[in-house]
Amino acid sequence: MAVPKKKTSKSRRNMRRAHHALTAESHAECPNCGELKRPHHVCLACGYYDGREVVKTAAA
Ligand SMILES: [Zn+2]
Repeated sequence: MAVPKKKTSKSRRNMRRAHHALTAESHAECPNCGELKRPHHVCLACGYYDGREVVKTAAA
């Protein structure tokens, strides 16, 4: 089994974790129904993407 030669210092460990922060999920208004949706994703409320219905929804 591979074993680290040296203990990782608090500084090195924290430098590695500097990139681990979570980012808030972005959202945009659906041009069809106005509901908030994730960019580049099918609208969950109306099933529209790129100006046409791609998924049948209960509301439709
Ligand atoms: Zn929509």
